[in-house]
Amino acid sequence: MSKSSLPDYVNPRRLANQGMSLEGEISADSFKRIAEVATITGQSVQVKLKFFSDEENFRVISGSIDMDVDLDCQRCLTPVSVKVESQFEVAIVATDESARNIPNHYEPVIVEEDTLDLVPLIEEELLLALPMHAYHNDCEVQMSYGDAEDVAEVEETTPNPFQVLANLKVGKTKN
Ligand SMILES: [Zn+2]
Repeated sequence: MSKSSLPDYVNPRRLANQGMSLEGEISADSFKRIAEVATITGQSVQVKLKFFSDEENFRVISGSIDMDVDLDCQRCLTPVSVKVESQFEVAIVATDESARNIPNHYEPVIVEEDTLDLVPLIEEELLLALPMHAYHNDCEVQMSYGDAEDVAEVEETTPNPFQVLANLKVGKTKN
């Protein structure tokens, strides 16, 4: 299957009513906020979105996104390649107030009219999935100085469970 671009805007309620899926790419240039903290190494980010209505009639977008980035290794300060994989489920709501009534396992996304701008949603999820600290698996600084204790201290300052998850994923990354 050839790679296609995702549309910038969708009508998420209609797609959910129809049970549609979208799969495609978003150009790496679209993600200005990510560019401030990481270097996206691919031309694009791979996105899969499923739109559906759940059994309680919440309209939901279930997504999975893959992105390759370079981050600064916190030991040697040279780039380390990291694969960021984000899985998320958001419920489409019309107002702040209805956002408070959705089940806990969803994040809300507020869509007042019929149009959802996909890039900000995707970028927000990628920022959540981005590890705060990245290290080479075989970093030479670590091998020279064995500074595992320093690392432990750094990681204690990481309260966000998304980041803990992301760090686990980083650990699996071949570099
Ligand atoms: Zn390193």
